[in-house]
Amino acid sequence: MYNITLIPGDGIGPEVISSAKKIIEATGLKVNWDIVNAGINVYKKKGVLIPNKVFESIEKNKIALKGPITTPIGSGFRSINVMLRKKYDLFSNVRIVKTIPGVNSPFKNVNLIIFRENTEGLYSGIEKKISDNSAEAIKIITKNASLKIAKTAFNYAKKNNKNKITVVHKANIMKLTDGLFLDCVRKISKEYPDIKLQEIIVDNMCMQLVMNPSQFEIIVTTNLYGDILSDLCAGLVGGLGLVPGANIGNNMAIFEAVHGSAPDIAGKNIANPTAIILSGAMMLNYIGETKKSNLILDGVSKTISEGKYITRDLGGSSSTTEMTEAIIENMLTIKKFMS
Ligand code: NAD
Repeated sequence: MYNITLIPGDGIGPEVISSAKKIIEATGLKVNWDIVNAGINVYKKKGVLIPNKVFESIEKNKIALKGPITTPIGSGFRSINVMLRKKYDLFSNVRIVKTIPGVNSPFKNVNLIIFRENTEGLYSGIEKKISDNSAEAIKIITKNASLKIAKTAFNYAKKNNKNKITVVHKANIMKLTDGLFLDCVRKISKEYPDIKLQEIIVDNMCMQLVMNPSQFEIIVTTNLYGDILSDLCAGLVGGLGLVPGANIGNNMAIFEAVHGSAPDIAGKNIANPTAIILSGAMMLNYIGETKKSNLILDGVSKTISEGKYITRDLGGSSSTTEMTEAIIENMLTIKKFMS
């Protein structure tokens, strides 16, 4: 029996998290879900954005599946997502961007993974109003965090027999901050002589990605570039509804989709549950339940490639619930066939 913290979030969060929960249960995994929540809706009810129960649950279980949480734009409270990543030093934000056959996209063979530094950079949260007409934000890059994300990316490459890593930076302009990040990645790369390090400036990277994304396999970068490139890459494989992610530290991990709370489609039962379902599959892999994780991947792939029960972002007309049920059905068929 696994104890896992489940954070539904807000917007489309509760809808897609409910799908992921059903799918994980359909694998046969025995889970004791500890359901806790944070965000503006909780604040309205309880007067606190992140109740202690959330921290206690994450600290106890050391593993969580989380829906998106809205962050107000311009003013209001700071991102709860960023706060959790920093508080628990979940320094690796890992995002898997992979073509799923059947999805309409001009690119057919995208298969890349982004390692985004997750605790600093321009997300330091240190901002200051200087006058009525100016404000500043502090970008923090440390050797410690840069070495850690670089090491994670190279370890992954080695374990998965990959021979190239692309580091994305803007060290031509930000010589001290991005310069330090780049130096750290170069330093780690020397420990892996069989893996080639390709260095690309972030603006060129955007162009390269939309021209020929298949040339990249592993990307390592700073917090802000990683955030932007993740959404760009999601667009290459059919949209945000498809791309899963994980925030991983030394002994704790929070799994969540790349997408946000999608207020424009919230509460309509039309969100694509795939991204959070695949985040759940990443979580199962992380805890060593590889077979069950693969069963989810196969169920999702089959459902999407059949194209019968897919949500409207993928060109279909099914609801979140119908797509979830179809995935479960396919998983059960695959399971029967395998046994
Ligand atoms: P978003 O990812 O919520 O939505 C961008 C676009 O993609 C929208 O058109 C939306 O409808 C679509 N989309 C997203 N997920 C989808 C899905 N599963 N199925 C179908 N379509 C989907 O980005 P946004 O609108 O920029 O942000 C909304 C809110 O989410 C903001 O408050 C932001 O701060 C927050 N956010 C939270 C997280 C997180 O919790 N980790 C991540 C990103 C954004």
